Amino acid sequence: MVGVWRPRNEAVSVTRVVIVGAGVAGVTTATALRQQGFVGEVTLIDAGEFAYARPPLSKGFLTGSASRESLAFFSQQWFADNAITYLPNAHVTAIDRDVLAVQTHRGTRIEGDMIVLATGGHALVPSLLSNDSGRVHVLRTIEDAERLRASLEAGTRLLVIGAGLLGAEIAISAHGMGVDVATIDPAAVPLGHLVGERLGLWLRDRLEGFGISHTTASVAAVRAVEHAVTVELANGETLAADQVVLAIGLRPDTTLAQAAGLDVDRAVLVDERQRTSDPRILAIGDCSADAASAPHRAAGHWDAAKASGERAAATILGHEPADPGVSWFWSDRGDVRLDVLGNFAGAERHIDRGAFGGAQFMVGGFTNGILTSAACVNDPKSARQLRKLLDRAWRPRPEEFADVSQTLKQLATAR
Ligand SMILES: Cc1cc2nc3c(=O)[nH]c(=O)nc-3n(C[C@H](O)[C@H](O)[C@H](O)COP(=O)(O)OP(=O)(O)OC[C@H]3O[C@@H](n4cnc5c(N)ncnc54)[C@H](O)[C@@H]3O)c2cc1C
Repeated sequence: MVGVWRPRNEAVSVTRVVIVGAGVAGVTTATALRQQGFVGEVTLIDAGEFAYARPPLSKGFLTGSASRESLAFFSQQWFADNAITYLPNAHVTAIDRDVLAVQTHRGTRIEGDMIVLATGGHALVPSLLSNDSGRVHVLRTIEDAERLRASLEAGTRLLVIGAGLLGAEIAISAHGMGVDVATIDPAAVPLGHLVGERLGLWLRDRLEGFGISHTTASVAAVRAVEHAVTVELANGETLAADQVVLAIGLRPDTTLAQAAGLDVDRAVLVDERQRTSDPRILAIGDCSADAASAPHRAAGHWDAAKASGERAAATILGHEPADPGVSWFWSDRGDVRLDVLGNFAGAERHIDRGAFGGAQFMVGGFTNGILTSAACVNDPKSARQLRKLLDRAWRPRPEEFADVSQTLKQLATAR
């Protein structure tokens, strides 16, 4: 049975918030609540040992340049100082919607007036690609990264299946460790759906420029053979490797939501205020997807997870959520830092600012003659600036945007 639901727009008086998951989404909700003066109880529960950021796992943490400690969001002391009850090593096994409470694997029940699901996701592993040889890896957690790193040494043959954002980062990091890396992806332009064909091809060629060979093919099976793994391609070819990484996507963790009877379609479905089909339960970050946009797909990027955590805090406090603004994600691929703003691949026309393929350049995405998106290569400062300008509805004409004799600031103030 389901407890009494409050009507959607009624201001809810919340004094106890229980957040399941201490990734960037959950931690953001907890901090935003305190920053905005919430005086009630905030309990943050996570199955992991400590609350940490995932982006370095495929970059500095994999190569060994970033330590385990440097990944932590906050210390235990910080949580205590901010009156956030942080419970690590606690796996939530069920949600009770009658009394609105969660239960941990140790049998502890924690009641709340509002529950926030921030359970993130897992690496997607189709059964035909998995095996138990210990040579097939995924990369989602700190333990995954440690296991992968321990399996790599100079000369190891590594096959990365999936050459999207994560796969390319892993490939480049491993290459930097002296590993003999190859990538496989069914798409001829692996990131084309996010950065369009031209930039996608440039990025792919860049990988090959490092000496990372790329095969365009679908994988039919991964098999353990003595001291190695063979990867069978749909075209009949077979590739051999010492280690394999699957980097083919995200499977949102919907276990708790599904068991509690909430609306789920690949991800936990939410409205524009992060409310699930039970408005006393919010869902944020990689486990959630906008119910209004089809297909239901979790964003899978850091900034989207953070923004959804902020929206959840606004919903709990009865505030209007901030305008979401233009979306943003970044990727670090060796000597290429990529920042993508808005729906760049979907733009009608792409206009370069700076020499395409040079050391530093950007490409603007125009639709109906209006700048709505951009991709910046090795220029995170301009990306930050451009993001603010796009949020302020700065709409340069294509020829203005392309004019590198003026800085973005000069162009924006000249209008
Ligand atoms: C290797 C890697 C590199 C990345 N690099 C980039 C990048 O360069 N740029 C970018 O924009 N994005 C990047 N991302 C994506 C970004 O990190 C994610 O979008 C973000 O971490 C999602 O945050 P989240 O809080 O929704 O989920 P998560 O970070 O997955 O956190 C979910 C938490 O919930 C906990 N949990 C789940 N179920 C339970 C339960 N039942 N009980 C208790 N706890 C539970 C888990 O232990 C976990 O700590 C990267 C992701 C990975 C994995």
